[in-house]
Amino acid sequence: SVLSGCQEKNELVMGTNAAFPPFEYIGGADGNAVVGFDVEIAKAIAEKAGKTLRIEDMEFDSLLTALNADKIDFAIAGMTITDEREKSVDFSDPYYEATQAVIVRKADNPISTKDDLNGKKISVQLGTTGNEIAKEFTDDSNIVAFNTGFEAIMELKNGKVDAMIIDEQPAQNFIRQNSDLEIVSLDFDPEYYGIAVKEGKSSEELLPIINETLKELKANGTYDKLLSEYMK
Ligand code: GLN
Repeated sequence: SVLSGCQEKNELVMGTNAAFPPFEYIGGADGNAVVGFDVEIAKAIAEKAGKTLRIEDMEFDSLLTALNADKIDFAIAGMTITDEREKSVDFSDPYYEATQAVIVRKADNPISTKDDLNGKKISVQLGTTGNEIAKEFTDDSNIVAFNTGFEAIMELKNGKVDAMIIDEQPAQNFIRQNSDLEIVSLDFDPEYYGIAVKEGKSSEELLPIINETLKELKANGTYDKLLSEYMK
């Protein structure tokens, strides 16, 4: 095998947080598998590496620690490539352009511009870029951070916060299921999702396989097919 170190196994372990539809969520035929856009990409990576894919579902905020502790081989979780994260791990080429969205209750929506976020109570997912954006507008004491977007949505539905910030695709997914909520588009900067690997051996050996897989998926039309299948 071209892979060694923690990849000296027949399996490749993907770390994710399966509460981020349509990228990763619990579903499938039996209703309890981890499925989604990222899972399809991970399957292609495992196939290219000649390994069986195993999925470890964990808190989003634990992924990079798990990676550096060799508990997982790569993290794919709709994870935005940021300078801060680049300090502790290496990222693949970007594979998806995203942005942050603000979700509010239709009945009492206090937000129509970014300035309106100042001082508001905001729910987020812990350790996400949405969490970072919330900090730009409001004090920590006004931010309620949850391990999953679902919990952050419940906080908003229950009237405990004024808004919730999360990536646009999961935001659209949440409002489709909650007719009392809506998205306010506030034109945040684009973010680029990347697949994270541990620095060193993984970066030297697994990262080229990951980048090669991404290139092939784009070139052979699979990537576009997955987009139309998963992004609504
Ligand atoms: N893209 C966001 C981030 O990287 C959210 C990812 C997630 O919650 N799975 O922080």
